[in-house]
Amino acid sequence: TPIPDYLDELLDSLRADTSGTTAQYIPELAQANPDLFALSVTTATGSTYSAGDHLEEFTIQSISKPFAYAAAIMDRGLNRVLRSVGVEASGEAFNELSLEEGTHRPENPMINAGAIMTHGLLVAEDASSEARVARVLELFSQLAGRELCIDETVYASEMETADRNLATAHMLRSYGILGADAHEVVSGYTRQCSILVTVEDLSLMSATLANGGVQPRTRERVLSEGIAQQVMSVMAVAGMYDAAGDWLTRVGIPAKSGVAGGLVGVLPDQVGIGAFSPRLDAHGNSQRAGRAFERLSTDMGMHLFAPS
Ligand code: GLU
Repeated sequence: TPIPDYLDELLDSLRADTSGTTAQYIPELAQANPDLFALSVTTATGSTYSAGDHLEEFTIQSISKPFAYAAAIMDRGLNRVLRSVGVEASGEAFNELSLEEGTHRPENPMINAGAIMTHGLLVAEDASSEARVARVLELFSQLAGRELCIDETVYASEMETADRNLATAHMLRSYGILGADAHEVVSGYTRQCSILVTVEDLSLMSATLANGGVQPRTRERVLSEGIAQQVMSVMAVAGMYDAAGDWLTRVGIPAKSGVAGGLVGVLPDQVGIGAFSPRLDAHGNSQRAGRAFERLSTDMGMHLFAPS
């Protein structure tokens, strides 16, 4: 079988790269097994090919951001969301305390300020903290096509060192952008980040985007075409933090990384890709998962702007 063999060979070719370290600022993630390595590709028509530690679960972390953004747009409408969160590349690190001049909106929903704001927009103006968490868990499960759950140990570990995210939420409140309680929103956002997924879940979630919002295996319409388009666009603009431009030009696969070592990528009409390897580079993106995407891009001609 050529595709699984190719994916196995791809992982083997990168195993020797042990550069980078697991996320050090979240105690529970610092202890992750750094050698895990997995890759999964799901076509827009619903065929999945996986290799390596593809049954291993890890926390979704920042990969939750594009999908929570989709939920907020469904719940509140694009115009309401745009009033509170922009769509410009920030060129900044994920946890930068930056807001757009004048409007005081976070620059985009992929940096923490924008993701915390987006979480606060979920469901309705006066939603409870539980309702916002239930909302993302429900949508992510529909996108993955199975019932996902939260790793409460990682959640608790991350809340112990959440001062920077709490500061960000308080700053958003001080400008009158965030209405909800700062502690409740950060706690809900951290639970959202602690949802457990496999690379296969990630490839199905992004294949749903690639397929214009229809989950390719369950055939359920989970998102409208317009929302899928908005989410993929924002991933291309800002998914890789301060490496977004370098990534889009070199690899050309709109992507979103997470600090647990996950990486999700999407090619409209073609595939969703999930990769996982816990060691991170200097930008906080998974080192080997990034290199796996580079190889897919070169070998399979997956660059978004490659002439066909
Ligand atoms: N939960 C993490 C945080 O807010 C997510 C960061 C990431 O995955 O890049 O710090």
